[in-house]
Amino acid sequence: MEIGNHLMRVVPISLPTPFYIGPVNVYLIAEDPLTIIDTGPKTKEAIEALRAGMRQAGFLVSDLRRIVLTHAHEDHCGLARSLRDEAKNAEVFVHNWETGHRHSRLEYEEHRMLLVRAGVPDNEILGMRGLYEHMRKYSDSFGDDEYTSLWDEAELEFESGSLRILHTPGHTPGSCSFLREADRTVIAGDCVLKRITPNPVLSPDPVDPSRRFPSLAEYLVSLARLRSFSPTLVYGGHGEPIRDFEELFHRYFRAFQDRQSQVISLVTKNGVTAWDVALKMFPNADDVHRFLSVSEAVAHLDLAHSEGKIAYELSGQTEVYKPQI
Ligand SMILES: [Zn+2]
Ligand SMILES: [Zn+2]
Repeated sequence: MEIGNHLMRVVPISLPTPFYIGPVNVYLIAEDPLTIIDTGPKTKEAIEALRAGMRQAGFLVSDLRRIVLTHAHEDHCGLARSLRDEAKNAEVFVHNWETGHRHSRLEYEEHRMLLVRAGVPDNEILGMRGLYEHMRKYSDSFGDDEYTSLWDEAELEFESGSLRILHTPGHTPGSCSFLREADRTVIAGDCVLKRITPNPVLSPDPVDPSRRFPSLAEYLVSLARLRSFSPTLVYGGHGEPIRDFEELFHRYFRAFQDRQSQVISLVTKNGVTAWDVALKMFPNADDVHRFLSVSEAVAHLDLAHSEGKIAYELSGQTEVYKPQI
């Protein structure tokens, strides 16, 4: 509950990243206990920009008491360990479904199986792994005893009020958003971005890693849930804040519907894999975009299949999609 008319102070700080997506937004909650939501990647440029941004707001990194992660992608969680070490007693919070980058144990085998099922050729899988390895240097991982889990509907308490934790899976299984109820402001990480439609990233199911997480179906539910709060302002993980969530919500839905129709139209009677569909949709994708295009294809094929619009069968370990007869 908010006390009086005090609005907890949210200070957005933009940090550079070495990634294609550009700068990342982190949010300082300038209240007691001093809290930062997301950290930026583990680079000298990002930590310097963070120090400068915090100094401008009247704080030092060593003043931080809580480090809260919307999700565990390198651009959001990379500095978590450094900040925690520098701030001595700071506590790290992340949803316990956010297993991919959090554990020191990587889900290599589970990930590889998902790519095999998607029909990605071996040499491409090797390339994607190389990229993954390369990305690791921008982040530290956390063991199970080094963080506190975020729980849906719990509150992050401050002396002056609280932020409600919303588990909003889709972009990743453990993605969380934070709601300041007094003025219905949401800090949404990569769940909501102003200029691009977030990618439902291919992930093993955190509860049963032999399964695929139904990322797009979950994402659509998360988006509708955020909409149910009628946000007046949404702070995303990248780009400017969103003041017209309703418009963006409909834009996202149109984009998803268009992509659904496109994916379904690419499923021919000879059968296609997610990899075939990804290559047709994004013939020029290279680098990390190869992986993201497979993610996008799998997410849409999964959704179309769960809605009974297409069928699939296994050919060896690979899923082959066919039109629904
Ligand atoms: Zn992300
Ligand atoms: Zn991001």
